[in-house]
Amino acid sequence: MSNDIKNIAILGSTGSIGTQALEVIGENPSLFKAYVLTAHSNAHLLIIQALQFNPAYVVICDESKYPEVKQALAGTATKVLSGINSIIEIVTHPEIEVVLTAMVGFAGLEPTIAAIKAGKNIALANKETLVVAGGLITELAKQHGVKILPVDSEHSAIYQCLAGEEDNTIEKIILTASGGPFRGKTSDYLVNVTREHALKHPNWVMGAKITIDSATLMNKGLEVIEAKWLFDLEAEQIEVIVHPQSIIHSMVQFEDGSLKAQMGLPDMKLPIQYALAHPGRLKNNFKRFDFMDYPNLTFEKADIKTFKNLGLAFEALNKGGNMPCIVNAANEVAVAGFLNNELGFMAMSDIIESSMQSIKYQTQPTLDDYLNTDKETRIFAQNLIKQMPVKAYNLI
Ligand code: NDP
Ligand code: MG
Repeated sequence: MSNDIKNIAILGSTGSIGTQALEVIGENPSLFKAYVLTAHSNAHLLIIQALQFNPAYVVICDESKYPEVKQALAGTATKVLSGINSIIEIVTHPEIEVVLTAMVGFAGLEPTIAAIKAGKNIALANKETLVVAGGLITELAKQHGVKILPVDSEHSAIYQCLAGEEDNTIEKIILTASGGPFRGKTSDYLVNVTREHALKHPNWVMGAKITIDSATLMNKGLEVIEAKWLFDLEAEQIEVIVHPQSIIHSMVQFEDGSLKAQMGLPDMKLPIQYALAHPGRLKNNFKRFDFMDYPNLTFEKADIKTFKNLGLAFEALNKGGNMPCIVNAANEVAVAGFLNNELGFMAMSDIIESSMQSIKYQTQPTLDDYLNTDKETRIFAQNLIKQMPVKAYNLI
């Protein structure tokens, strides 16, 4: 093995981003090594991945699955660990250069903090971390001299547009949104949509949580907050536009009015590869974009009257403090409830709005405050769901 091989820890290797990252690593074995792989409870896939990629460590969060993984990997060089604390510890390993945060939700916060404190560059897919504690994370990254390289396609697009423009002033950025599976639908229609409808995204195949977030437009709301922290912007500098074809991944407008866009077919392997290979670009054989296949690239305004979550996210961004953390926790609980058929599509926004009104607002939260806010909001939101009239949404 050459010395300039990059050792990568993939947090959430069994997920949508994680498996695509392993494809990228598999295609570039002389550049990247999967040094650590982690999963929540999918022992089966984690074992298959470990046998294929021979990582130095795997972590299975769910401790009841530890014996299964341990036994399957006995006789290999891979060490098996378990529990979330093992993830927080292993990301600091001296051999690791980049930590790809591809786990879902608030659970990504503490491992990301540990990795930054250990001086690791972060390839950030886990947008919830920046939504919850963007100020704290970006400050820590500055202190420890680490880069946060966005994996989210919109933010990767902006990052790419900004290459070579370090001293130039951004007037605004324009985040594109596909509009999700319910673009153009009315509230009357949305009241009755099921999880099966919502899980069918027109352009991207992703994990369940982000797919629901895309259907409610909360994903774009989370991305607005993510962009604020990644690019040091004010809320007024962030615009959202619906672009159903998902070819323009996002744009930057500079102070001279010039607009730069990054374009391509929707394929997460490209932003993953860009983040892992940064600052270089790697040759690949991904399918190329052809203008003749897309004679009409279209744009429309986001309907924030119907899709209230996007407006709520902007409100949280303007409010600051622990408000985005409240929104994130309430949203995680609401999405899990919707996926369990415990509440309807439109009720997800009600849960978030009530949480924003009820949980104690703090202007200057510490890490402990964020952890407490997250916990309190989850309890509050779960209680709200319990009080909702039961309806068999999955039967509609
Ligand atoms: P998936 O649900 O497909 O995968 C999540 C991964 O994280 C799995 O490996 C899962 O393990 C693991 N995981 C889940 N919960 C926990 C937990 N509590 N503790 C430890 N590990 C956990 O998600 P995605 O890959 O779709 O998304 C991952 C992140 O990337 C999200 O933050 C999402 O917003 C972001 N992202 C995703 C995009 C996409 O195209 N999918 C695009 C842009 C951003 P297990 O398999 O065992 O459950
Ligand atoms: Mg995105």
